[in-house]
Amino acid sequence: MEYCLICNTPYKRINNFVYKCKKCLFLKSNLKSGNGREIEGISELRRKNFRNIIKVIKSLNSHKKFKILEIGSGSGYFIEECIKSELDITGSEANDGEFIILKKNFSKILKISLPLKEISTENHTKFDYIVFNDVFEHLENLDKVIDQLKIFLNEDGKILINLPSSDGVIFKFSNILKKIGFNNFYDRLWQKGLSSPHLSYFNNKNLSILFEKYGYELIYSSSLDTVSKNGNYERLNSTIKSKIVCMFMSFILILFYYLQKLFPRDIIFHVYHQKKN
Ligand SMILES: [Zn+2]
Repeated sequence: MEYCLICNTPYKRINNFVYKCKKCLFLKSNLKSGNGREIEGISELRRKNFRNIIKVIKSLNSHKKFKILEIGSGSGYFIEECIKSELDITGSEANDGEFIILKKNFSKILKISLPLKEISTENHTKFDYIVFNDVFEHLENLDKVIDQLKIFLNEDGKILINLPSSDGVIFKFSNILKKIGFNNFYDRLWQKGLSSPHLSYFNNKNLSILFEKYGYELIYSSSLDTVSKNGNYERLNSTIKSKIVCMFMSFILILFYYLQKLFPRDIIFHVYHQKKN
């Protein structure tokens, strides 16, 4: 029997790849982890969300000099936005191919694959922020990962994390569809069958319980947009030829843009601070 990572309650099997904790509602999959990343999402929306994240980072710091480490930088959009805002950013990547490309484009890139297989005795550079942009839910052995963060984090450091929520309207809707026999959306949310599927799904509450367990306290909680208001038609039209279909779909997306403000949000955005002993 396997027990919940967060609250130690036995997991209940949901389907052939998902397990759920009945007490804290944490979900985990037994999908095979990978470090590729084929879905980067809409670049303009990602950049907009990254600019909001940067605003929050700046607002949480009274002093100007601070160092940021991003785990899993992928195509490097967050690094670019940080550079534009004149922040001291170091990127990192586990995937060999993406690491080489990032190295060519940016000066500060580390090869980090969490959890670390072996912990070297050399002194690592320490950072004031460790940032996970849509990365945490792809990692294995999260207890080890959180424990190892202190290797890279300054004593007064903060962890900034954003990831999809199991309380969000998209997840809930896919769950309803699954119950009536349509598994496609649910499987797609877990990125089942892709090179780097989701291994876990959190909600606001169980994510903060997990971090509390490792000595961090939640100091900022918000959400990010899933759908953008502008540019939907142009983006759709680049893959779909029919103008009417594009107009209809972009109308639906704009509707969703406003609806997402009313319903439980799909992307959790938390900042944690290391508690002083
Ligand atoms: Zn639990």
